[in-house]
Amino acid sequence: MNRLKQAAALFLALALLTALAACGMPGAEEAPSEPKGKVYYGFFDTVSYVYDYAGDSAERFDERSAEVSHLLEEYHRLFDIYHEYSGLTNLCTLNREAGGEPLELDRRLIDFLLEARRLYELSGGEMNVMLGAVLRLWHDCREAASDDPEHAAIPTEEALREAAKHTDIALLEIDEAAGTVRIADPLASIDVGALGKGYAVERAAEYLEAEGAGGYVLNVGGNIRCIGDRPDGSGWVTAIRDPDAAAEDYAKHIRIRDTACVTSGIYERFFTVDGVRYHHIIDRDTLMPAAYYGSLTVITKDSGLADALSTALFCMPWEESARLAESLEGVEVLWIFPDGEQRCTPGFEALVERS
Ligand code: ADP
Ligand code: MG
Repeated sequence: MNRLKQAAALFLALALLTALAACGMPGAEEAPSEPKGKVYYGFFDTVSYVYDYAGDSAERFDERSAEVSHLLEEYHRLFDIYHEYSGLTNLCTLNREAGGEPLELDRRLIDFLLEARRLYELSGGEMNVMLGAVLRLWHDCREAASDDPEHAAIPTEEALREAAKHTDIALLEIDEAAGTVRIADPLASIDVGALGKGYAVERAAEYLEAEGAGGYVLNVGGNIRCIGDRPDGSGWVTAIRDPDAAAEDYAKHIRIRDTACVTSGIYERFFTVDGVRYHHIIDRDTLMPAAYYGSLTVITKDSGLADALSTALFCMPWEESARLAESLEGVEVLWIFPDGEQRCTPGFEALVERS
């Protein structure tokens, strides 16, 4: 599945590049410059790209992309729930010590966990990083299915209900002043898959912005963040996949600048049991894969917010999802329903280049 995801990310990056090359703003005086690009493997289980369209010198681009990759690597290690690294207390350590003493954590992790809690509140609890116990059951079944597809099975309802008893956000005890965090229940655990990648991308974007770098695009496993605009002011055209079709088909092309674009979809990670597909975004009410959409795309400047919302809005029926999206300033959304119907916020419509 990993390889699939990598291929999808690569495809998206290529699509971005080709679309970008093909779509100069009509009447723009300058032809868009050829971008410089770097690719990194190994962060967040996916492929990461850094592009410079601004024509930085090779030295400056090397320096900036190296720092971006360094930041992504650091956050990858801090957020990793499957591995520990020597000399580092990360989320894997925090999960292992659940029910024990408070742990002193890197300030960056404390800030991140505070943001995760804020986004829990903002999403009315739909995006909950303390859903780890439930998500682990799904994760284990997905892994088992990948090893032995013939015997693939989903978690039992009983196991899911039992796990759900250990998912209260209040179990995440953050003592900001002391710089410590504790998970208050040994059977609870944290999973930051819904927003970790987007949050890390935003930190990299923050670095580039502080450097005064415009005309950069970051693409980390499909989490896209444009820093500034192209030098000729024409923005970038990117394609949003049709969730129901072969990867070559796109539902929409949109023109974006100085913003993040994140999609959550049923095709990203899934396994099949008796011909039924089970994807990786879990509705906290049913404890099953959320069934409202085929995919959902969020455009907003902060890539961490975009990532968290892509998951949260995916878990809400449309009226509720649309109400939340419209209550947030600067947040644009495209909902693609399982039957292919598309709805979007008015601000999203304004970004559409072609369908
Ligand atoms: P991806 O990172 O694959 O692009 P998402 O941003 O939608 O996709 O995040 C999905 C991941 O978030 C899942 O793999 C799981 O780790 C986690 N997750 C799934 N459902 C929820 C939920 N309701 N709340 C918080 N995290 C979730
Ligand atoms: Mg997300």
